[in-house]
Amino acid sequence: MILGIESSCDDTSLAVFDEQSGSFPYERTSSQVNWHIPYGGVVPQLAVREHLRNFPMLLEDLKQKISLSEIVKIAVTCGPGLPGSLALGVSFAKSLGLLLSRPVIGIHHLRGHILSPFIGKNLSEKDFETENFPHLSLLVSGGNTILSEITADFEIQILAQTVDDAAGEAIDKGAKLMGLNYPGGPEIERLAVQGDAKSFKFPQAFTKPDEMFFSFSGLKTSLRYLLEKLSDEELREQFNNICASYQFAVVDVLAKKMEQALSQRNFRSIGLSGGVSNNQLLRERVQKLGEIKQIACHLPKPKYTGDNASMIAFATAFDESHASKIVDFYPNWKL
Ligand code: AMP
Ligand code: MG
Repeated sequence: MILGIESSCDDTSLAVFDEQSGSFPYERTSSQVNWHIPYGGVVPQLAVREHLRNFPMLLEDLKQKISLSEIVKIAVTCGPGLPGSLALGVSFAKSLGLLLSRPVIGIHHLRGHILSPFIGKNLSEKDFETENFPHLSLLVSGGNTILSEITADFEIQILAQTVDDAAGEAIDKGAKLMGLNYPGGPEIERLAVQGDAKSFKFPQAFTKPDEMFFSFSGLKTSLRYLLEKLSDEELREQFNNICASYQFAVVDVLAKKMEQALSQRNFRSIGLSGGVSNNQLLRERVQKLGEIKQIACHLPKPKYTGDNASMIAFATAFDESHASKIVDFYPNWKL
C-alpha cells in the first residue's frame, strides 16, 4: 500500500492506496478554509500552524483503520505550493519514512491533479495505455488553467496556459463583484441554472485555433462595467441571466480550446481535473467532445477535484518514473 501525503496549500490530507485492488482503504482531508475566510485568502503562517495540528490527528485516525506496517512506500507533494506548508508535509513524510524504514518519493502537485481523472480505472488492464494515450488534459482550478498532453510515456506537455487569471479565479472574482460568497463557482452555477446564458455577451480571449493561450481578466472587467451600468432593479431582474452568461463565457472558451487541440493532434482520451471540473456545464461540454471524437472522456469524482492525498498516492502507482527521488520542497516546481 502507498501512503499519500498532501499539504501544499491549505488542505491537510492523507490517503492509502491499495495497488492490488486499486482502491483507497483510507482517505481523509482536513480543510482549513474556515480559518482563512476572515482574511479573504490563505494566510501562509496560519496554514502551517493548522497542518502541524492536523497531521498527527489524521495519522492517529489512519492508525485506527490500517496498520502502518502495511505501507510499503510514502509519496508526498513536494511542490509547487506554499513553502512552509510543503516543508511541513515533506518533513512529516521523511519522519514516517525513517520510522517505518520505507522509501519516500516526491510528487508534483499538478501531476497529481492531471492524473486524477484516472482514479478508479484499472491501470493493469491490457489496453489501458493504448486506449488512453496520448491524453488531452484540462486542469482548471482556482490557481491554474492548463491544457496539456500526456504522451504515451506519461510526459506532460503544456499546450496552453493562462496569461493572467485562472478560470476558477475569474469565476471567484466575478462572483465577488456580484456580492456572492467565496468560493464563487458553486454559487454562480446554482444561480446560472435559472438563467439564460444568451442574455449577455461577455468577451472571450484567444479564440482562434493558433492562439494557444487563455485569458480571463477582460471578462471580469467587462462584468464590472456591466454591473455599473445596470440599475438596482435591472440587476435584480437580470441576476441569474448574468450568472448564466458569465459561466457560459468561461466554460465555452475552455471547451473551444479543447476542441481546437483535438483537431490539431490525435488524442485517445480526454479528461478534466481541478475544482472547476465540478461544474456541470463544463462536464457536459467535455463529455460531448469525447462523444463527437469517439474517444473516452474521464471526469474526476468530485472528492478528487480539490487538493487531496489520494491523487498523490495514485500518481505514484500510475507512474513512478516521473516522481522525484530527491525529496525536498520545491515551491516553484515547474511541470
Ligand atoms: P481548487 O483551486 O482546485 O481548490 O478549486 C477551487 C476553484 O474551483 C474555485 O475557484 C471555485 O470557485 C471553483 N469551483 C468549485 N466548484 C465549482 C463549480 N461547480 N463551478 C465552477 N467553479 C467551481
Ligand atoms: Mg490544487
